[in-house]
Parts: sequence; C-alpha cells; structure tokens
Amino acid sequence: EGVWRLFKLRISAHEDPGKDFWGVSEPLLREISKVLEFPVASMLPPEAFKVVRKSFDARKLQKEPKFVYTVDMDVDKLLNLEPRTWEFISELEQKVGVIESMPHGRFSSDLISIIRNCTKRNETAASTEVFGRNDFSESYKFPNNRKPKVAVVGSGPSGLFASLVLAEFGGDVTLIERGQAVEQRGRDIGALVVRRMLQLESNFCFGEGGAGTWSDGKLVTRIGKNNSSVMAVLETLVHFGAPSSILVDGKPHLGTDRLIPLLRNFRRHLQELGVTIRFGTRVDDLIVEGERVVGVKVSDSGCSSESSSQKLGYDAVFLAVGHSARDTYQMLLSHNVDVVQKDFSVGLRVEHPQELINSIQYSGLAKEVQSGRGKIPVADYKVAEYVDGKDVGTPLNSESIGRSCYSFCMCPGGQVVLTSTNPSELCINGMSFSRRSSRWANAAIVVTVSSKDFEALNFHGPLAGLEFQRAYERRAATLGGGNFVVPVQTVTDFLDSKMSETTIPASSYRLGVKAANLHDLFPAHITEALQHSVLMFDKELPGFVSKNGLLHGVETRTSSPVQITRRSDTWESTSLKGLYPVGEGAGYAGGITSAAVDGMYAGFALAQNLGLYNGSM
Ligand code: FAD
Repeated sequence: EGVWRLFKLRISAHEDPGKDFWGVSEPLLREISKVLEFPVASMLPPEAFKVVRKSFDARKLQKEPKFVYTVDMDVDKLLNLEPRTWEFISELEQKVGVIESMPHGRFSSDLISIIRNCTKRNETAASTEVFGRNDFSESYKFPNNRKPKVAVVGSGPSGLFASLVLAEFGGDVTLIERGQAVEQRGRDIGALVVRRMLQLESNFCFGEGGAGTWSDGKLVTRIGKNNSSVMAVLETLVHFGAPSSILVDGKPHLGTDRLIPLLRNFRRHLQELGVTIRFGTRVDDLIVEGERVVGVKVSDSGCSSESSSQKLGYDAVFLAVGHSARDTYQMLLSHNVDVVQKDFSVGLRVEHPQELINSIQYSGLAKEVQSGRGKIPVADYKVAEYVDGKDVGTPLNSESIGRSCYSFCMCPGGQVVLTSTNPSELCINGMSFSRRSSRWANAAIVVTVSSKDFEALNFHGPLAGLEFQRAYERRAATLGGGNFVVPVQTVTDFLDSKMSETTIPASSYRLGVKAANLHDLFPAHITEALQHSVLMFDKELPGFVSKNGLLHGVETRTSSPVQITRRSDTWESTSLKGLYPVGEGAGYAGGITSAAVDGMYAGFALAQNLGLYNGSM
C-alpha cells in the first residue's frame, strides 16, 4: 500500500502527445501496463498514476528519440480492481524492481510544509502549529519583546527566499537592493539594448530578482531535482505564478517573460508579510561593534554623495549580493571579514543557428521543433571534457592539461546579452523567453582557472580571481573597440587562429559584434584548452565545429571568484558575528535554484539562531 514510484517509462516521440502535455496519456498507460506485466492497459485507472518527471531523451545512441517518464502509482487507487488483476499488482515489487517508496527526512518534510504554508497567506496558522511559532514570544531574547531586525542585502533568488523564511518566522525584515524593481529595471535594460546606456546599478546583474531575472530561467540544478528543498523552491515559484509543469519537467525552464510577473507576486507577498523593500539602495559599509555587525551604511544608489548616506541598525545582516558586487567584496576586506579565493571558469560564448543544433541532436525529427511551438523541445546540449591532450592528435602545452572544459548555461532559442556592470569592462551571458523561439542557440564554453592562473598575472590575495576576471573583461572591451561591441570569431577560424572575414554569421547580440582574433584574449594555454575542447565537443556533437558557429568574448562571471566563509553550524561568517553570507556571491551556490535553496536554508538557520524557530536541522 502507499505510493510507489516507477522509473524510466519510455514513449516514442511519435506516440507521445508532446512536450506540453504533462498528464497520463494512453501510450503512457500502455507502457505502465507493460512494465507491470498487467494484461489490459485500459483497465488501469489513470487517476492511480501521477507523472512526476518527464524529459526528452534524444541521445544519439537511441534509434528513436523518446520521452522518459517517472510516474507515481497510488496503490490504494488500484485496490478496487478485480482480484485476478490485483494479484499482478501485489507481486509488483519483486517483478519489476523499479519501485521505491519515498521517505522524507524530518527537516526536509518540514521545509516543504513551511514553504507551502508560508506561500498561502491565509494559512499561516498551519505553519505556526508545525513550527511552534506560538512559542516565539517566549523564546526570543530581544529587549521589550521587539522583533529581531534583519537586513537582507540583495534581492536575487537567495535574498528573496531568505526574506520569505525569515518574515514567515516573524522577523522584522528589510530587503535592501541596489538595483531597481522589475518595472524600472525593464526600462533600464531596454535603454541599454537600444541606446547603449548602461545604468551602473540597474542592469542584467543588478535589480529585483538579481542576475536570474533577465536570464534563461533554467531551474535545473546539480543539487538534484528529487531533493525536497529543491521541490520546496519550485513549489513556491509555482505559487507565485510559474507553470506547474516545472514540478514535472526534467529540465524545468521559465524564461524572462515568466520571471517578471512571478517576481512582482513574490514582492507583493513579502510586503504583505511586513517586509520593507528598499530598491535603489546600496549597502556601502557594515557597522561593526566589537566582533559583531550591528547595522549597515546605505546610500541612494543613484547618488554618490556622502550626504545621501544613512546608518541603519540591525540584529543580523544577510549578504546575498551575487557574484558581481565587487565593491562589496572590497568593503568586506576593510573589516577583515574572511574572504578567500575560489576557482571558477572563464571562456567564450558560442552561438550556432538553433536549426543546426536541432538537426545535430534530433536528425530527422528536427522539423518537429517548429521554433518552440512543436511537439518536441528546442534542442539543447551539455558537454564536458577533461583536457588530457589525447584523441585530437595535437600535443598540448603542459599548462593546458588537467583542466576541465565544459559548456555552461546553454540557452536554446535564446540570445547573447551584456552582463557588464562597468562601461570599461565587457562580459556576456545568455537569456531566453519561455518559448525559446529565437533563431539561435548559445552556450558558454569555459575552462577552469585557479590561483596559479591568477598569480601568473601577478594577482594575489583574496580578490585575485576578481582582478583576473576584470583584466579579461577589459581586454575584451578593447578588442571589441568599445561601446559594448563584442569581439567575435567563427569556430573554424578560432581553431585555425585566423581573423574571420568581414562576412561573419549574424549574431543575436544586439549591441554589435566585430571580427577579432580571440587568441589575443586569454593566455595561450587557456586558448589551447578551449580549442582542444571544441574539437572534442565536435566528436559528441558532429557539426559543432562550423563556420556558422560564432564565438563571442568574453564569459568570465560563471560563478563567484571568492568565498565568504561561514560556519557550518550557525551559518554565520567565520570572522564576524551576525553576518550571514549566502548564495552565489558568497560562493555557496551556482544558479537560480541552488541560490534559492541556500537562501532558504540560511533563513532557517538564522531563524533558529534568533530563537524564532526551534526545529532540528
Ligand atoms: P544574484 O541573483 O546575483 O543577486 C544579488 C543581488 O544583490 C543583485 O540584485 C544585486 O543588485 C544586489 N546587490 C549586490 N550588491 C549589493 C549592495 N552592496 N547593496 C544592495 N544590493 C546589492 N542561473 C540558472 O540557474 N539558470 C539560468 O538560466 C541562468 N541564466 C543566467 C543568465 C544571465 C544573463 C545571468 C547574468 C545569470 C544567469 N544565471 C542562471 C545565474 C543566476 O542568475 C545566479 O546564479 C543567481 O541569480 C544567483 O543568485 P543570488 O541570489 O546568489 O545572487
């Protein structure tokens, strides 16, 4: 009895109702009956089954691309089958060996309940019962029974989820964001793309929703989709307006057009919980007394004068500032906060016609894609190689060997966008809309770099990686000739180290591209590792090396170049009490979902430290 899970049920792309159908179709029931060795598929009640995962598998080795399902079977709903057929069911566990019950750890299931409950505004009483918030007034130790005051700096996924959890537990939360709310941010990004006006504090990295807003909105994470904290994040997003298919889709994706209204709903909800949100407000400094942070100094981010500066007192400060808050990292060092170097990756963004990627991945089935409106999803790819100098015939420089090289943040049907936060630096990334209907497919091709690489440029100390990023962003700006024009080279010319002709393929990048030799960008060993990897990728994706593939420079902000170290028990900074570094900028997450999960867990940790929550972790 209970719920059993059936894995790896495969339906051919021809039979399946398609990528936008998430229910139990007839072909799926037939496949279930086959796996269960159940004689008559039509006798299985569809309501006994729930699709919990659906993905499209177009691996080349397969004769025919297939949709692959994971399905939960509610055994109780099968009990009214006639006895003879029930015999089959009762023997299932031994027969198929693909069934698993689904245990949840206590904290995980609590997490799901709290997030579910806290996103249903009128049902907070339920979460009160689960988490003993009734004890709140007795357990916290602040004078005059006042609520603990918490500043959350940064409204990216980590800051938003931290604010949500803390506000639910009764904290007095102020969310401080240097950028603008999505409505104004949209106008600022429009001015950038159309008139080349970069607002230093409201752009593709800074503003409501953080770096993840004008993004591809992929929600896949290496933490694993079955992780219950990931599910809690996804369910919360659904509550705020994401389609429920993200709970089932093997590669969930939102797209910028869906993220914007979702963030507006998230904001309203936080405000209804009593969170004060200050957009256009930058944290310039921490106020430290003894070994503890007791507040922050903020200024109107549109204004650089001292007179706009304000001091605000808090019991705790969450630092959820993302990987581009370079001034904030610098400020932390002035307080001797523990910040250490972290390895990350740099490289180029490659763009191919989406049709080419569709045909590489799907062969004859490519026509079914129909610019995102068809039955099967727009094709993506994910490739990774270890650079060992074998297999492609060319001997490699010893410094190239031993690096990982991989595709990163692949955006099918997307566009290349400018993620600079300073006009003298040039860096790029990719975004898309929910339909993924553009003519292009782009992805970063990056290679790992570490302290050895930073030292080679004479960069030392905790911010050496940041200086390394900056050096190549400046070089890319120079190679492009300024004005945010991006230097480009075709994949074939990059392999041959020759300038591309004036007739370079069209690019989705809106601010203009200029032919350049991208070998002039990185040190020779990084270029060589990238060349080697592109050749290896072509073995996996024949056609990847193409004169229609255009490499754009430079991709540097793949993850944070530092870690702001924190204690594993209290989640506080290892050097400053009351400071909670979270999310990607602190070096504890990479991507929208993992940053949200980190913010959520850190929110629980602080709630616990403040005596707002006494559950176990
Ligand atoms: P961020 O989202 O970076 O948020 C930090 C916030 O803090 C910013 O809004 C910033 O303005 C604010 N801030 C910084 N300093 C201060 C200060 N001193 N005072 C006040 N506020 C401050 N990830 C995916 O998983 N899937 C994708 O498809 C994807 N696509 C991307 C596309 C683009 C163009 C970019 C740039 C990133 C993309 N990412 C994607 C990465 C993802 O956006 C980040 O991993 C994620 O947003 C990190 O969340 P965070 O909360 O840690 O930080």
